[in-house]
Amino acid sequence: MFRPPAEAGSVLIRVADGCPHNSCAFCAMYRGVPYREHGMDEIDRAISAASAAQPGARRVFLADGDVLAMPEAVLSAILEKLRQAFPRLSRVNCYASGQALAARTDAELAVLRRAGLRTLYLGLESGSEEVLRNMGKAGTADGMVNGCRRAREAGMTVSVMVLIGIGGKGLSRVHVRETAAALNAMQPDLLSFLRLIPVPGTPLWRRIAEARFLQLTEEEAVREARDMLAGLDLRRTVFRADHGSNVLPLAGRLPRDRDALLAELDELLQCGVLDRNGPGPMPALL
Ligand code: SF4
Repeated sequence: MFRPPAEAGSVLIRVADGCPHNSCAFCAMYRGVPYREHGMDEIDRAISAASAAQPGARRVFLADGDVLAMPEAVLSAILEKLRQAFPRLSRVNCYASGQALAARTDAELAVLRRAGLRTLYLGLESGSEEVLRNMGKAGTADGMVNGCRRAREAGMTVSVMVLIGIGGKGLSRVHVRETAAALNAMQPDLLSFLRLIPVPGTPLWRRIAEARFLQLTEEEAVREARDMLAGLDLRRTVFRADHGSNVLPLAGRLPRDRDALLAELDELLQCGVLDRNGPGPMPALL
């Protein structure tokens, strides 16, 4: 079961299998997993088992890949059951796609927030519509910017993920510029930079093998992260680039720590240790 790093201490409850889109060229998370929303009996059993094991739990993460896509009435019923099963529950979080966010009305978001849904993890990946189209991403950058704004107005916390390198060499500058602009419009509560890691068996892997997608070198990836960070004008965001995919682990608060984070990246770029010819060492599994 996949979950964001910040959910390491949460009770994980699966209410659906897979991702309803399963179309992103870089993503192997749910490849081969047919999308299925669990029935309420199955969800009841999962909640009962989880609450028997950890009755004092305060945090629950609902899986799999796009729980916000489930009907609002079903989600509200799940949230109600969670409140009954976990008396000390303080937050319920899940992944949300741009499409699911766009499909939720303001009233539905407000109902879900009141019912206990707290943090949405949204994979923006890029603010460039061209990059998103190339990667087969469901939803548009504009839709995700708007969805993020509406979710925050409903009182939710939005954690946005961006993929360094997703534009390849050809669209790197566009990716930097338009992603920074999208993030500045979103003003996410949390922001994570992850680096694009090609996974065998994905369409992206084949594009790289056929030289139809030119991967950034290690140095270019660090420069892209640096330039994107430099373009951010965020008023109150917790920033993380400490996922195993990143070349240099970084964490801080924006805008307070931006200059210090940029100095760290500049120092790394200047010291000459980064691979200028290839992507450098890549984690085997994410
Ligand atoms: S929407 Fe998310 S989980 Fe689904 S295929 Fe794309 S990246 Fe993977």
